[in-house]
Amino acid sequence: MIDFEKDIRYIKGVGPARVELLNKLGIYTLEDILTYFPRDYEDRGKYKLIAELENEETVAFRAIVTSKLTENRIRKGMTIYKTIARDESGSVILSWFNQAYIKNTLFVGKEYIFFGKVKKGIGRIEVQSPIFEEIGKEKNTGKIIPLYPLTNGITQNVIRNIIENAMNEADGKFLESLPQWIIHQYKLCNINFAMKNIHFPNTFEDFEKARYRIAFEELLILQTALLMMKYSVKMDNRGIKFDKDEKIEDLLSTLPYKLTNAQSRVWNEIDSDMKNEKCMNRLVQGDVGSGKTAVAMLALYKACKNGYQAAMMAPTSILAKQHYLFLSKMLEPFGIKCELFTSEITKKKKQELIEDLKNGKINIAIGTHALIEENIEFQNLGLVITDEQHRFGVRQRGLLSFKGTRPDVLVMTATPIPRTLAMILYGDLDISIIDELPPGRQKIETYAVRRNMEERVNNFVIKEMKEGRQAYIVCPLVEESENMDGLKSVIEQYDYYKQIFKDFKVAILHGKMRPKEKDEIMTKYKNKEIDVLISTTVIEVGVDVPNATIMVIENAERFGLAQLHQLRGRVGRGKFKSYCILKYDSNSDVVKQRMEIMQKSNDGFVISEKDLELRGPGEFFGTRQHGIPEFKVANLYTDMTILKIAGEASKKLLEADPSLLLEENIAIKQKIDKLFASKEFNTI
Ligand code: ADP
Ligand code: MG
Repeated sequence: MIDFEKDIRYIKGVGPARVELLNKLGIYTLEDILTYFPRDYEDRGKYKLIAELENEETVAFRAIVTSKLTENRIRKGMTIYKTIARDESGSVILSWFNQAYIKNTLFVGKEYIFFGKVKKGIGRIEVQSPIFEEIGKEKNTGKIIPLYPLTNGITQNVIRNIIENAMNEADGKFLESLPQWIIHQYKLCNINFAMKNIHFPNTFEDFEKARYRIAFEELLILQTALLMMKYSVKMDNRGIKFDKDEKIEDLLSTLPYKLTNAQSRVWNEIDSDMKNEKCMNRLVQGDVGSGKTAVAMLALYKACKNGYQAAMMAPTSILAKQHYLFLSKMLEPFGIKCELFTSEITKKKKQELIEDLKNGKINIAIGTHALIEENIEFQNLGLVITDEQHRFGVRQRGLLSFKGTRPDVLVMTATPIPRTLAMILYGDLDISIIDELPPGRQKIETYAVRRNMEERVNNFVIKEMKEGRQAYIVCPLVEESENMDGLKSVIEQYDYYKQIFKDFKVAILHGKMRPKEKDEIMTKYKNKEIDVLISTTVIEVGVDVPNATIMVIENAERFGLAQLHQLRGRVGRGKFKSYCILKYDSNSDVVKQRMEIMQKSNDGFVISEKDLELRGPGEFFGTRQHGIPEFKVANLYTDMTILKIAGEASKKLLEADPSLLLEENIAIKQKIDKLFASKEFNTI
């Protein structure tokens, strides 16, 4: 038996400095490092002839160095080393920047394996900074090489070496975590084969087997956990019958607009659910700007007019406040008292609110996850609405419902979820779709541009701001956590744009700021005390600033299309023509196609469908979007088949052993407990 909990410092190749770096990657124990799976693989085991090399491909080939290395100092701090190598089919130029060690490691007349990216010009082939190893002394070539997600200070070779050492210790000693009948029935490979081959496969076939097994297990565990949760809350399905006629027309006549057909249809579906004795459990999907809030308002009104309290939960305090302002303005004339619950209210005020809510003086509580705190009680909670559901953990939705006695439940989301997936995630939820935007909505004019258009883009933003409009500039990350070429951090961008837009008020907004700070910035932006906001995706969710007409998205190729679409929905909310500019930095055809979709379509459902088609299996897609934990290997979109099969298995598993008490199921039970305790499962 080996101790998988053993600290990584005891693994060969890990000194004190590396311990710290590994910790930064979330790796603390032997088990952590062994389950730190590759993000991709390079096939350095298949060799091509030089004549077969294609432009832009990253590939291995064998060649003899035929000319002496030249050293060329092109400017201070920049030296280029070049040589030529050939095989029987042709020759290739090899070049390296600033890598002086090449001088002492590469020799004329010797044969090497080279691996690098090919650049083909007219009559010449060049490979820049290839890695190379002498034939017969291959260590990092000659086979399939795993590539790991990195942090600054650790290279692929270092982490691969550590994982190799860890694997040497653990090889053959992994304990089987699935019962034998599942392994047999679903033709899975055993855990030892899987662990070895997910890291160091000899063939891609072996890798697929390993990957299948690990993805299967992850999806089995998730679905078993969801089923156990469902069984534990599913008692009686009878809920509240909201059968008083609340005269919804009175409220509708005070709205400044008419409901769209889609809004009316969805409202009718909700209305008949609420009238019915059966507990409502409905998911409302609607593109950004489709008017979900108005529909929610009708349901809230109905619940209150029937004598019940209601709650509406939003993922951010900015959004909660926006809902509060709208709902209180609309509903208080009808004698419905709304209050705002966020973590920012003072203790004293909060105490008052808690009292008033408990004794029924407040009809509607609007808030963030502050609403699910333990000391919040309702007198008679009849309706629970969760806005932008994908931002919450699976469990939070449930927690709010527990504050009432089988209240009706409505969840709203702008993320188009494929139906099969929704069924698995939301199980018994009914689904309504608002598939129409309010009339007069202008298409957000979208342009995808390359880096070299930067100046023109900036001038365009300035022109809009001179006309009194406001702008968003969105960057992919807060910090450069990975070494990705050309990806600038939001803070760097902020410094840059402060110069560019020096005649305007520029501010920064990102997820690492305190909620109160974020709120202040957003409020200032809303009040037009800020002209341009440099931000990460924290602005993604529902905030309404009608004067904002232009959004520039940096490194747009780094985002999922559904996310780009949601981001873009922040502009085009007022009477002014609005623009979205996607700056991208890639030659890939898929990226170009994705950008084209964004330019052509303004329909979130079309966009996400197309995105699914285009997205290759290697590309990761945030499962975070749906409030469920990230998987290490499985992908909820591309692994739909495994998802289904593992779903069957989890049903069988629970039929045979509902509480997972059997010896053979203990490992699964432990993993589920860990999942229930995890941050992703429980928080935003
Ligand atoms: P989302 O579905 O993204 O939450 P909102 O509820 O925030 O959308 O609505 C977006 C905007 O559309 C709001 O400014 C709202 O006032 C407006 N709106 C909603 N319904 C209609 C309608 N039927 N006609 C015109 N404008 C509408
Ligand atoms: Mg909304």
